[in-house]
Amino acid sequence: MISLKTPVSEAPKISKRIIPALKRLGITTIRDLLFHFPSRYEEFPETQAIADVAAGERATITGAVQKIAERRTARGLRMAEATVADDSGAINVIWFNQPFLARTLKEGDTLRLSGKVSRGLRGMSLQNPLYEKFQNPKSKIQNPSSIHTAGLVPIYPETEGITSRWIRFLIKTYLPLAGALADPLPPETRDRHNLPEVKMALRHIHFPESQEQAADAERRFIFEELLLVQLRALRERSRIRQRIAPAIPFDIELIKSFVASLPFHLTDAQRRAIWEIGRDLAKPQPMNRLLDGDVGSGKTVVAAAAALLAARAGYRVAFMAPTEILARQHYATISRVLAPFHVSIGIITGSEKKRVTAHTIIVGTHALIQKNTRLENLGLVVVDEQHRFGVAQRAALLKQNTLSPHFLSMTATPIPRTLALTIYGDLDLSVLDSMPASRKPVITRIIPPAKRNDAYQFIREEARHGRQVFVICPRIEIENKTGQERAPSIRKPSQQKLLLADVKTVTEEHRKLSEDIFPDLKIAMLHGRMKAKQKEAVMHAFHDRETDILVSTSIVEVGVDIPNATVMMIEGAERFGLAQLHQFRGRVGRGEHQSYCFLFPTEDGFVSQRLRAMVDATNGFELAEKDLAIRGPGDMFGTEQWGDTGIAFKGLSDPAMVRDVRAAAVELAKKSPDLSAYPGILLRLQELEKNLHME
Ligand code: ADP
Ligand code: MG
Repeated sequence: MISLKTPVSEAPKISKRIIPALKRLGITTIRDLLFHFPSRYEEFPETQAIADVAAGERATITGAVQKIAERRTARGLRMAEATVADDSGAINVIWFNQPFLARTLKEGDTLRLSGKVSRGLRGMSLQNPLYEKFQNPKSKIQNPSSIHTAGLVPIYPETEGITSRWIRFLIKTYLPLAGALADPLPPETRDRHNLPEVKMALRHIHFPESQEQAADAERRFIFEELLLVQLRALRERSRIRQRIAPAIPFDIELIKSFVASLPFHLTDAQRRAIWEIGRDLAKPQPMNRLLDGDVGSGKTVVAAAAALLAARAGYRVAFMAPTEILARQHYATISRVLAPFHVSIGIITGSEKKRVTAHTIIVGTHALIQKNTRLENLGLVVVDEQHRFGVAQRAALLKQNTLSPHFLSMTATPIPRTLALTIYGDLDLSVLDSMPASRKPVITRIIPPAKRNDAYQFIREEARHGRQVFVICPRIEIENKTGQERAPSIRKPSQQKLLLADVKTVTEEHRKLSEDIFPDLKIAMLHGRMKAKQKEAVMHAFHDRETDILVSTSIVEVGVDIPNATVMMIEGAERFGLAQLHQFRGRVGRGEHQSYCFLFPTEDGFVSQRLRAMVDATNGFELAEKDLAIRGPGDMFGTEQWGDTGIAFKGLSDPAMVRDVRAAAVELAKKSPDLSAYPGILLRLQELEKNLHME
């Protein structure tokens, strides 16, 4: 029997041919199919007389096909062309690129068509209309099962090999199975927050009768997803609270002498963060804290203070960075600032597999955990540039330790408050919201095509004065061939393809700059296909001022510290999100010299709100709020923790929604701490957690 659990590959009416496409959309079961939500709706009027349609407007007509044939345009484009007539008149209909319709649709068929009317040389025509064939051509009654034309027509995230039309048909076919769906939301939550019941909401999100119906349905699903995210966080928090961690005494004198030994004054924000962390470490429950501070806000010394406390108390510390370059940088920094305290510090990287477990503080990449390094007696784990610990990472560490270590994550992605409370509800937050006074804000400019040469001239001047320059090449987007919506669930089209394309642009840019623009300067390049050793050699050379310009893909994004670099030039700036652009900008302005960030829009010179925001705001938290308002959080955060539909994203830019969801989550958890009173929710949560485990 077919149910919601049935794999699409075993369902009748779903051709084997489209299974891979469905899979790319994240659809493997009938349930997944029904929860593949429209990204938008096309709105058309109800049927009108052909004589009444007006050029430039959307129209819906119903009529008989008088003739239909395949044709070629003068430029060789294949198309189907038809004449469709009703009692009031006839109209010319053209479908470009879909010549097969001349065979699917036949003379005498009754069609309903929705599309935009245009006026051409041969009178009015409908171009590429959505169409629907009437089942019973004799009947004049409106086709009651209409889904492709008239009213609100759902448009879905598509991928090569499957169109919205297909998806609409499949959803229509299998929607009745939703009758078996139990609503995971308790009735009292639905009542309190005015949320439609799941079966109705599902019908309304796919085939709404009004925009309002569609919006209500969408709101319900957003609410549900956000509630799950929130409940997951609450559960994770209480789970961690139940573990036992080594209580590391907060040695105030030690911290005082550490602070006094630094060559600069800590900012108030840094002091506060050290204080918050110190108090957490002293408790016998594991700390689970996120240190959130803009690029250059000085997170490393805060982490070093925590590491010092742990090390002095006799515990080992693991300090992880996302790349080898960063691991080396951290190793250097920590060794330097902790030098007066005689802590033994080691580094472990992919290229150097020497035994380091004799050390107290071990710095490495994230592979540190996976390398079967024995990390006994671990008191503190620090991860840089990661929002939180993976469940699997944590589990791996717990296997080797009877006590659970304390966890400190660090991120330079400024997280707006509402977001932090929802997605990172399992973490305590320390925010570094001020910069060391010594840092000068970076001057940011959008460079229109006509000003490109001036910018090059400016760069030459900077280089002449001994400064260095980063050039970031545009991110490559592998285009979706249908040219339609991109599904939020399509991740990693092909890592291999992307890397190769990246290499190509970097190589070309490098050639252009070194041969045509700056033949007098020394220019190096950096991309993801280079071996770790090569990358490091390039970074070292740049650091030691052996090269003037470093052309790179986005891999310089995180953390690298080159105080002598004063210009960050970003090609195809439109292709990056605000958070990433802000990260790039943070690569400069780290030294004593005034620094600049030049944003080059893509070829067509389009300047978005986003690029303007970069010019207007230099504070990361401010930018993050803007980004949230402009594009929603999808741009800043991965899609991992977003449940199956990704729809929760939309809710995060709505503070009222976030507040309601929090209230609902707290209430449910209060009434039934283990949620056993809400089996529907519990089941969804378990699914969510299972998915998180697999990532
Ligand atoms: P991020 O938060 O981006 O990781 P880092 O920890 O790498 O920043 O710090 C950036 C630079 O600022 C480092 O060279 C560090 O030594 C320096 N720094 C940190 N705190 C201060 C401060 N309070 N005053 C001046 N310089 C500081
Ligand atoms: Mg850092």
